[in-house]
Amino acid sequence: MEKIVSLCKRRGFVFQSSEIYGGAASVWDYGPLGVELRRNVADAWWSSMVHARDDIEGLDAGILMHPRVWEASGHVSGFTDPLLECKTCKKRWRADHLEEAGCARKPSVAPGKHADCDLGEPRLFNLMFKTFMGPVEEDASVVYLRPETAQGSYVNFLNVQQTSRQRVPFGIAQLGKAFRNEITPGNFIFRTREFEQAEMQFFVKPGSDDEWFDYWLEQRLEWHHWIGIRPEKLRQHAHGPNELAHYAKTAVDLEYEFPFGWQELEGVHNRTDFDLSRHQEYSGKRLLYIDPGSGERYVPYVVETAMGVGRAALVALVDGYREEEVEGQPRVVLGLDPRLAPIKAAVFPLMKKFGQPEIARELLKELRGARVPASYDQAGSIGRRYRRQDEAGTPWCVTIDRQTSEDRTVTIRDRDTLAQERVGLDHVVGWIRERLG
Ligand code: ATP
Repeated sequence: MEKIVSLCKRRGFVFQSSEIYGGAASVWDYGPLGVELRRNVADAWWSSMVHARDDIEGLDAGILMHPRVWEASGHVSGFTDPLLECKTCKKRWRADHLEEAGCARKPSVAPGKHADCDLGEPRLFNLMFKTFMGPVEEDASVVYLRPETAQGSYVNFLNVQQTSRQRVPFGIAQLGKAFRNEITPGNFIFRTREFEQAEMQFFVKPGSDDEWFDYWLEQRLEWHHWIGIRPEKLRQHAHGPNELAHYAKTAVDLEYEFPFGWQELEGVHNRTDFDLSRHQEYSGKRLLYIDPGSGERYVPYVVETAMGVGRAALVALVDGYREEEVEGQPRVVLGLDPRLAPIKAAVFPLMKKFGQPEIARELLKELRGARVPASYDQAGSIGRRYRRQDEAGTPWCVTIDRQTSEDRTVTIRDRDTLAQERVGLDHVVGWIRERLG
């Protein structure tokens, strides 16, 4: 994991927040390459959920909502983790994650293992961040930073359904920031207090929920394979009765084998009619669906798919990271799926003369005009330039050489196979776009 963290810093994927002030704990900033990777993950999700389907609509609800929303959803009373504090070293942990925790003192052992550890009883800690709406800091103006995007979809269920003229079954997808005051954030960008979620709520007729649950579980697994994650690194974990969230009838986590063990990447949940029914009760407004064919009225059940975008980006980084030897030289490669790669093509003039830089710059302009994210590099040996792009995950490097001015062809080198293909200068954009799909 240290190698990935160091690559992320070195190449501008992820920086620690407020680093010049000593850093803000477990908050991370996405640098030039990281922001592209994260956006590519989010775009791949959005296009498969919203653009490729006619039964899912997009929504972008506010982060701040009416505080009653969080009473109705059960988050004010129930969105808690068990907090354990050691009275000797003053460190705090999640009581249900003790196996991953380490003591603050040396030698660092599991909490409770030193002779004078004094852990006490776990107490419940609410994970929602509170703030105040307006200029007066009083109880009446308390609002929360949303801990999930889902509630925005529930309170807008009828707005979306009626304006888009969707019929149940249909879904609402959202991408957006969520905030949780995690007791033990960590493992780099795996668990942070501010993160982006990609969540989809699928509204179905009660009784058809189990079938839709199976359908969405399969769809999500396939999506992770489709964006290039190795299938053997993914598995399913069904929640037992003690693990289920207060709203869930069934829940399955899609887990990835990180360097720190198998951990949740995405959750698929059958949330029943819990949320819509509670919002009806707390708001006094009906959230009933009336079937236009049969006239039946019911509160739909919801099957939710919930993924962290930063966590999915971390999976792509971990899954793609390789160290290899090529012709006796070590190389580090980020084998990202080309659709996720921040830069799709790097253009190099082999030499800084013979008109090669000019041709390279022309090609770069053409790639940019075609909205293919590309970069230019003329510094150092060609081998070093390849290595820089390998680490950034760039799938193709295009080299302009002496032959280019003779026959208007260039070489395109493939990051993974190292194969070099001679392609007409005028066909480079098409060649790349074809491979991006
Ligand atoms: P955990 O049990 O690990 O705290 P959770 O089961 O509460 O997570 P969900 O509420 O199902 O998580 O959230 C959906 C998804 O959002 C998770 O699968 C994960 O990818 C992402 N996520 C949740 N919490 C965080 C976090 N603190 N930092 C980054 N991503 C997160």
